[in-house]
Amino acid sequence: MSKLERCNPKYQVLFEPVQIGPVTAPNRFYQVPHASGMTEAYPRVRAGFRGMKAEGGWGVVSTGVVSTHPSCDDTPLPYGHLWDDNDVRSHALMTEAVHAHGALAAVEIWHGGGSVMNRTSRIAPYSPSGIPWAATHVGFMGNHRPRVMSKDDIRDVIGWQAAAARRARQAGFDIVYVYAGMGYLGYQFLLEEYNQRTDEYGGSVANRVRFVRELLEATKDAVGADCGVALRISLEELRARPSEHYASQGHEVVALMADLPDLWDVKMDSSPTDCGASRFRAEGSHEPTIDFVKSMTGKPVVGVGRFTSPDTMVSQVKRGVLDLVGGARPSIADPFLPNKIREGREDEIRECIGCNICISSWHDGVPVRCTQNPTAGEEWRRGWHPERVPASGSNDAVLIVGGGPSGLEAGLTLARRGYPVTIADAREQWGGRLLFETTLPGLKTWGRVVDYRINALMQLDNVALYPGNEMGAEDLLAMEHPHIVLATGARWTRHLYSALEIPVGVLQGDGVYTPDDIAAGIVPQGPVLVYDFDNYYLGGLLAEHLADQGLEVHYATPTGNVSAWTIMTNELPFVHQALAQRGVEVATLSLLQGFDGEQAQLSHIFTGAPQAVAAKSVVIVGHRQPNDALFHALMAREGEFADAGIKSVTRIGDALAPGAIVHAVHSGHLYAMNLDSDNPDTFLRDMPIAVDPPGLV
Ligand code: ADP
Ligand code: SF4
Repeated sequence: MSKLERCNPKYQVLFEPVQIGPVTAPNRFYQVPHASGMTEAYPRVRAGFRGMKAEGGWGVVSTGVVSTHPSCDDTPLPYGHLWDDNDVRSHALMTEAVHAHGALAAVEIWHGGGSVMNRTSRIAPYSPSGIPWAATHVGFMGNHRPRVMSKDDIRDVIGWQAAAARRARQAGFDIVYVYAGMGYLGYQFLLEEYNQRTDEYGGSVANRVRFVRELLEATKDAVGADCGVALRISLEELRARPSEHYASQGHEVVALMADLPDLWDVKMDSSPTDCGASRFRAEGSHEPTIDFVKSMTGKPVVGVGRFTSPDTMVSQVKRGVLDLVGGARPSIADPFLPNKIREGREDEIRECIGCNICISSWHDGVPVRCTQNPTAGEEWRRGWHPERVPASGSNDAVLIVGGGPSGLEAGLTLARRGYPVTIADAREQWGGRLLFETTLPGLKTWGRVVDYRINALMQLDNVALYPGNEMGAEDLLAMEHPHIVLATGARWTRHLYSALEIPVGVLQGDGVYTPDDIAAGIVPQGPVLVYDFDNYYLGGLLAEHLADQGLEVHYATPTGNVSAWTIMTNELPFVHQALAQRGVEVATLSLLQGFDGEQAQLSHIFTGAPQAVAAKSVVIVGHRQPNDALFHALMAREGEFADAGIKSVTRIGDALAPGAIVHAVHSGHLYAMNLDSDNPDTFLRDMPIAVDPPGLV
């Protein structure tokens, strides 16, 4: 039976080819351009990462943004280049890796205009009318305002686009983009607030479209005979604007260029709305913005929406919303999503949880990390594959204590390798910290971390699962497993810190709680102060959770924002909204100095100005420490290991170093892949490709 014959008939429409100008996508699965943090500094890592998606069945695999010229320089954020022949060779590694599996390779050629600061090239940024972009993310802020482009500048930018397109074709790309979205140069020409020109490039919608049209025409002239030419455009703002002749300016813009691009790639305008976290955005949330495009063009349309359900994908195609099912995050979490649907194995999909840790990697300026898929970014440098693992190095049995994210990932990967695996947990249910956290507002989807692993573990016959078993050192010695893994998690503490970020001891007293107390079911007496210097999701979520129970809640943090680190995951604006909607009083830049059971004493972190907040309870969401008592109890009996047949005792995940779930999963995978390895924890170091000597760009 061929693989497609195993595909559920209702999903077979997803495997129809789609013509994109002179090239044909082998199916409707389209990995749209997305940031990977992999610049020309990591050409082999990049090729390994993108090639894996082609192996997994994605019909088109794209790059992230690729700059045409030094006047588009987003440093220190990572981005690709097509400036010279060395860049061509670097990208060719990726196109070869993608073509090896019969997929098409697409390149998102890009000019950032006034939204890039050209920090390295020192070229005054380009813009239609000198109007800067108002960044709210410190990483994007700059103090260099853009210059107004002359007609010569416009001709130059169009020429650089064409030159980059020719280099892209040389590098082997099949689809070449023009980018008019997300605040970048093409988008700036489309919006009247950024484009106040009085020449033929400004004024009417038809005039504002001219620059993007000329980019498309130049790209078609340069490579259109061989490559599909795609237009990527943001429609959120344009669709909200009235037009004289159409339902909106979005409709008018699409009508004016209807059949000019070979493909429409349609999206939202800002990273938080385009790539919304599951906590605040459901699957398919773009549809109300982009659903009209197909009715106005004869060319195919691709769009995204964190699609992981084949039923949703088919519905989008059948209802005429999209021709190609775009995926960025779903393709990171499971590069083999298309093949699993094709082979009737959709219950094996490792579904994206929408946590946006992948996006935080781009904001951090590093290669991509994924909570669900610990092999993302590790394909080349560690040789990890999301579906295949090397056979075990021995028949040694492994006992894992703790069935949270790290223990489950270690157990699954070890079992897939062929080791006999036992996993025990004190609780009756699997999931560790996620057991409680997935009950918090918006976090249900994160349960996929546990569901995927438990479902997969249940299929394997070399796995024994023992929920409801609290393990002590005596038990571990008695079980005589050669390898013992302690994935026992971490606990929250009551430590506080000074304005100089130095620990100042533990806050004692009645009414002082940690998230572990709330998870254990304690309902604190209101009013409650949630004091958050962990800065990720939990502080904000506990404030929501307690307010939902009818308590008066105050939230204080020494940083300038609620859940400050969630700026990295596109969640921060919505955390502010969620707290405001629940009437949670927020005090930023505030240090907790003391608590007497009636009031919490805060002080401004910089001025020291005091502030008292009425509170009967305080929940400190700050510092975590490993649950390592069992480890130390066991190691105290190291002398008995030989008789008990114990060869190794290892801590993983939060029990080793408390972190986010992404760290715990990676730690579990790393352990499992390195058991019996001669070179644990080594990886290949990537380097730029530099055949040609340094030269002018
Ligand atoms: P991680 O994020 O590192 O996977 P979690 O805190 O999510 O850590 O999970 C740790 C799990 O370990 C919890 O489910 C907890 O019940 C379990 N655990 C901790 N100590 C023991 C023990 N002594 N015996 C059995 N299970 C334990
Ligand atoms: Fe999805 Fe989170 Fe992985 Fe990103 S990091 S692909 S949001 S699971």
